[in-house]
Amino acid sequence: MNSISPLKLLFLSTSVGPLGSGMGGGVELTLKNIAQALGDRHHTITIVAPSGSLLPSFPVIEISGRLQSTAQSEGREAWVAMPSESVLANMWNYARQVQANYDLILNFAYDWLPFYLTPFFQTPIAHLVSMGSLTDAIDHSIGQVITDFPSAIALHSRAQAATFEFGDRCRVVGNGFDLSQYQFCAEPKNALAWVGRLAPEKGLEDAVAAAQAAGIPLKIWGVLQDVPYWHDICDQYPDAPVTYEGFLPTAALQQELGKCRALLMTPRWVEAFGNVAIEALACGVPVIAYDRGGPAEIVQNGKTGWLVPPDRVKGLVDAIAKIDQIDRRTCREQAEQDYSLAAMGDRMEQWFATILARKAA
Ligand code: UDP
Repeated sequence: MNSISPLKLLFLSTSVGPLGSGMGGGVELTLKNIAQALGDRHHTITIVAPSGSLLPSFPVIEISGRLQSTAQSEGREAWVAMPSESVLANMWNYARQVQANYDLILNFAYDWLPFYLTPFFQTPIAHLVSMGSLTDAIDHSIGQVITDFPSAIALHSRAQAATFEFGDRCRVVGNGFDLSQYQFCAEPKNALAWVGRLAPEKGLEDAVAAAQAAGIPLKIWGVLQDVPYWHDICDQYPDAPVTYEGFLPTAALQQELGKCRALLMTPRWVEAFGNVAIEALACGVPVIAYDRGGPAEIVQNGKTGWLVPPDRVKGLVDAIAKIDQIDRRTCREQAEQDYSLAAMGDRMEQWFATILARKAA
């Protein structure tokens, strides 16, 4: 049941890549899932996204311009950078012009400009922050928003919140998934999975080393974001039983992922959430993850996977040896209990109600 009356919502997507390209990482699926959760509750949703974006069932306003680079590669001291003919600037210019037609704007971009612009808009802006603290400039702009608009910032996990000085003042909303899109697979083949952008902060090399030590094939899915990084891994582990399977749309990915014995999650950084953990659990696939960040809040150690000491391949190998102790049905049940679209819809509506009540006051 709706906890608020139907709203007109304008979603502003990430500006690092078109929806459907994979360049936006987990944000792309998060945006799609939230649109679906809120559309199911009769809210009207319009999405503003870079040209080339694909998202069936929702109106997408495609905006041209040059893409932003990703914040995770730039270092703490990085200045705010904008290309000429910036798609980010163009998206927010569009939002400025149409804002009067909407009750609320929801920002998905982890970038300085949307936070900076917040007080200049008449329509309230809610920001769903998709990464932990990365640069001082963006931290400062988010901190300013939470001071001026105390309800405006939501994050995905407590671990992500802990990376920000002001994290205790942010709302934590988790995430939600259309679980009907994921089929339970009771009997896997003898293979492990790794799913994510192939980029240094994701620590793929540890999963490759663990697969080699365990002698079990590892299948890798995701956007090849950093090609030299991937070639280095191939050079370092020439005999590892790994295959790169490309980037698949959700329907095909879940079919393949479901056939694996476990998902390995080996991030070097504090993963804000880790969508792929829920996608694996939804297929009945246990998750072996480093014990930090979002995955450490998702995996129930010994029940739906194993949490192991970060950055240590041996821990991964030991956990792989124990994978059959995990009941795959329990994994699916956890996804259903904690990460449904309905539960996420409730949390998003409660958040929006707080923002709108404050605005009315
Ligand atoms: N993904 C996908 N196809 C693939 C591999 C990955 O659609 O072949 C998606 C996956 O569904 C997930 C996202 O890529 O939503 C990765 O998100 P995650 O939150 O795990 O990490 P991020 O990239 O945001 O750091």
